[in-house]
Amino acid sequence: MTDSPVQVIRQAIGNHPDPETGRSIESMGQLLAISVDQEKVNVEVALSTHSMPILDDFREALESKIVAALPGSNPEIKISTHNRPPVRLGQIALRAKSVIVVGSGKGGVGKSTVAASIALTLQRLGSKVGLLDADVYGPSIPQLLGLSGRPAVNATKRIEPIKLNGQMPVMSMGFLVEPDQAVIWRGPMLHGSINQFLSDTDWGELDYLIIDMPPGTGDVALTLSQAIPIAGSVIVCTPQEVALLDAVKAISMFRKVNIPILGMVENMSGFLCPDCGKTYDIFGRGGARTKSDETNVPFLGCLPIDITLRTAGDEGRLAEVIDQDERARAPLEAVTKAMVRELASQTLQRPAQGTTLPVL
Ligand code: ADP
Repeated sequence: MTDSPVQVIRQAIGNHPDPETGRSIESMGQLLAISVDQEKVNVEVALSTHSMPILDDFREALESKIVAALPGSNPEIKISTHNRPPVRLGQIALRAKSVIVVGSGKGGVGKSTVAASIALTLQRLGSKVGLLDADVYGPSIPQLLGLSGRPAVNATKRIEPIKLNGQMPVMSMGFLVEPDQAVIWRGPMLHGSINQFLSDTDWGELDYLIIDMPPGTGDVALTLSQAIPIAGSVIVCTPQEVALLDAVKAISMFRKVNIPILGMVENMSGFLCPDCGKTYDIFGRGGARTKSDETNVPFLGCLPIDITLRTAGDEGRLAEVIDQDERARAPLEAVTKAMVRELASQTLQRPAQGTTLPVL
């Protein structure tokens, strides 16, 4: 007896991995319905909000599997979202599905701008995101996002983060010390303050917690890696040789503390002159891609020097610009999606963990 078209489709896509857990959508109960009417194939799948940034990739992959299994068919994939609650990470109360750290070898390469932009882009694409500014020596996230105020302690005795537009929880040393007071803590005090940011802050339930790391130093990376499982790190550098050499040090620092590396981003990669339309490679170009090949680290993309981004950062309007300026947003969105794809693919490569859901 030949299989019915519905069975053919089920066989073709049932084994497809959920981008979040790496398990087959059928075994996870995510394949809700399949119907076939002549060439029309309707499929309903439920994904968690964590997978939203790569929803298009997922849809296209299912469509091509369906067309390969039933040539001439016209698939329509309906994706609904269901929210898998995040697991508690480590021994602390933080509930997040993926913690991602953004680091650099040296300061001034745009690490904080990229960290904040990744957080904002993930949120735009439908995920629940928190942003922790762990750059305790030079906290610039409040400035970039135009946030100020002192976090209050709520009824459950936890620190209430400052919310960007009433939505995205943000925590920074910049909310606790005066802007001109450089934090000179080292060792145990630093360790304590980072742990407090993670465990005593009421983050709520998050898909992603993005952490803006201090440049270079291994102290904070070590503290974080001991406190919580970190899904991955992103390394920001400019194309200049000196920045690239420091980025290589950052790569070895993350490797030393066993934080997986999701990839490298080349920031300030070329300047497109708005007046003459010519591109100038002010800091050079392409060096990060070469370094990432040499160090066996994925390359997540390039971000051009963009005056809009610089003024937005200076004026505390980064969120507004990412929301409203398609041209400024496009390269940031490409880098963010490349990062989520890399996270999904690294998750798929990890060995399956019995019957419990893997912590991403
Ligand atoms: P870091 O965290 O590495 O010290 P920041 O994110 O604070 O760097 O960025 C340093 C300065 O460079 C800021 O003024 C920021 O607005 C600017 N900047 C960062 N990335 C870009 C970019 N792609 N185009 C233009 N200016 C940028």
